Amino acid sequence: MRIASLGSGSRGNGTLVEDESTCILVDLGFTLKETLRRLSRLGRSPRDIDAVIVTHEHGDHINGVAPFARKFSTPVYMTPGTYDPKRQGIIPSLHKINCHRNFRIGGIGIEPVPVPHDAKEPCQFLLSSGGIKVGILTDLGHITPYVELQYQSCDVLLLECNHDPGMLEVGPYPYPLKMRIGGMHGHLSNEQAAKLIEKVDLGRLRHLVITHISEKNNQRELVRKALEPVLRNWTGESCIADQEEGFAWIEVV
Ligand SMILES: [Zn+2]
Ligand SMILES: [Zn+2]
Repeated sequence: MRIASLGSGSRGNGTLVEDESTCILVDLGFTLKETLRRLSRLGRSPRDIDAVIVTHEHGDHINGVAPFARKFSTPVYMTPGTYDPKRQGIIPSLHKINCHRNFRIGGIGIEPVPVPHDAKEPCQFLLSSGGIKVGILTDLGHITPYVELQYQSCDVLLLECNHDPGMLEVGPYPYPLKMRIGGMHGHLSNEQAAKLIEKVDLGRLRHLVITHISEKNNQRELVRKALEPVLRNWTGESCIADQEEGFAWIEVV
């Protein structure tokens, strides 16, 4: 399997996951023009995308989905709560998924995992092919026992390290927004992410990609500092996805 990112953060997200026969785009928070530019940077054209799967209805994950799907007739998968016809308009090939039931697109098996986030029916995804499992986990306020169980055994983990609680507290956001982000249905802090890493099977994990970093309430150095103790004996590779560049193709064999 291969994975790459069009960009990651509160100004837009989009992750490509593909095997030899199928290419899936997880979330699309960019304009059509910006999406095409970012896809071509990764050597892909819109027609290469077999489906878009959507985690939740926040703009940074969904704003680009309907325009893309209408222009290129791409099938879209999301929970019923995520689809709002008034906001998104018609999506020609829309599949409403049950977030408690696994499904398959081409060669890739997909396990949705419901998460605690302030959206209508949010879920994150585990994608598998040929014995490789990729876990995507962003936009959740805390790690539930079910999330911990489902993300136990990944070969690749894309994990949100949204904020440093100290920076969030003294940062520029208005008080209600600070409460939202740091709350039970907001976003994971560096420390919360580190606690999950402590629990997963690090013997199996080969790539860790830090995602959805806040530009105002976090710094790469603080992320590294928070994760360093739990990754001390780990021999895999890690990187940090960014808002402008995402990350380039990672090949997992
Ligand atoms: Zn988000
Ligand atoms: Zn969100």
